[in-house]
Amino acid sequence: MFDQKIPFLELVHVHRPIQSHVLHAIQNIIESNSYISGKNVRKFEEEYAKFHNVSNCISVGNGLDALIVSLRCLEIGAGDEVLIPANTFIATALAVSYVGATPVLLEPDLSTYNMDFRNIEKSITEKTKAIIPVHLFGQACDMEEIMGLAKRFDLYVIEDNAQAQGASCKGKLTGTFGDMNATSFYPGKNLGAMGDAGAITTNNHDLAKKAQMMKNYGSCVKYVHELMGQNSRLDEIQAAVLIEKLKYLNEWNAERKILAENYNRLLAGIGDIATPFKPDHLEHVYHLYVIRTNLREELKCFLLDKGVETLIHYPIPIHLQNAYKSLGYKKGAFPITEMLAQTSLSLPLYPGLTLSQQEYVAEAIKRFYNGH
Ligand SMILES: *Cc1c(COP(=O)(O)O)cnc(C)c1O
Repeated sequence: MFDQKIPFLELVHVHRPIQSHVLHAIQNIIESNSYISGKNVRKFEEEYAKFHNVSNCISVGNGLDALIVSLRCLEIGAGDEVLIPANTFIATALAVSYVGATPVLLEPDLSTYNMDFRNIEKSITEKTKAIIPVHLFGQACDMEEIMGLAKRFDLYVIEDNAQAQGASCKGKLTGTFGDMNATSFYPGKNLGAMGDAGAITTNNHDLAKKAQMMKNYGSCVKYVHELMGQNSRLDEIQAAVLIEKLKYLNEWNAERKILAENYNRLLAGIGDIATPFKPDHLEHVYHLYVIRTNLREELKCFLLDKGVETLIHYPIPIHLQNAYKSLGYKKGAFPITEMLAQTSLSLPLYPGLTLSQQEYVAEAIKRFYNGH
């Protein structure tokens, strides 16, 4: 009866419609003699900016660099504090540390799992320079609230849009609110390359120009260096992949939403499962479909035994990672974040997953609870 194998992520479905276009583009790139920062990169930057209705997109090598380059362009560094969510992928914190500033962690809202904006005001000190909201799992943050607070306290905003490309907040796309906004095209993201890639979006021309230099050795004219920049450039092949995949992003996100609704329906009322809560005014593009249960470890093992692969986002919060021992936080410092780390479980959800596969997952979950 339980004889299927359902991987956590399967990219063949999204790659099928673009494969021949990508092969053709790669053939052209091989013959073009231009492999970095060429015409595919420029075209992708234009199209990604147009998709967001922003004036500038600056491609970079990955999502972490998109955050680092943004922070450097805003001249955030030693002695500064940056507010970030306590439950996010570690990249958000690492970028802040990398520029020499201190990440200040904020507890999430228990319904959306996003940074609770009610914690922002009390976390602001003389040293606070910026807020990095993360649209976690694809759930848009309430950017109106965050932008309002940022304006009141004169703080920069850098959206970390790595998990929410194509999501919106009251009709305006995420990645268009902040002074600079970072995203990642790691292959598994809603818009993914076939390797590492990332981008910054901004409506500020001066910051855009600075970022274009910052990511290319501080230079826009060869061998003339205005800034102590870094090397974080997108290559032509990844840009060509992204040009093709961007055409499908809205369609794929729509499919993710249908799949999420299917799970919501199939899992309603089973055991102690909490399905994702989505506020009406904030879009969710379900980069991940994360449920919560107090029986997380047992359920994860049970599902694996039935052929269903799941993951945990994220098993160890940033403040309890060895890498961040220096911040001096003890267990218990962020109870909501720690509870999420103990109880969250991400189910398979990606374009191409079928309703019958979802029913299989739901049946397996039901079976698990029948035994409890
Ligand atoms: C994936 C991710 C990043 C980092 O992206 P990379 O391309 O892996 O460097 C940053 N922030 C969040 C929230 C992410 O999910």
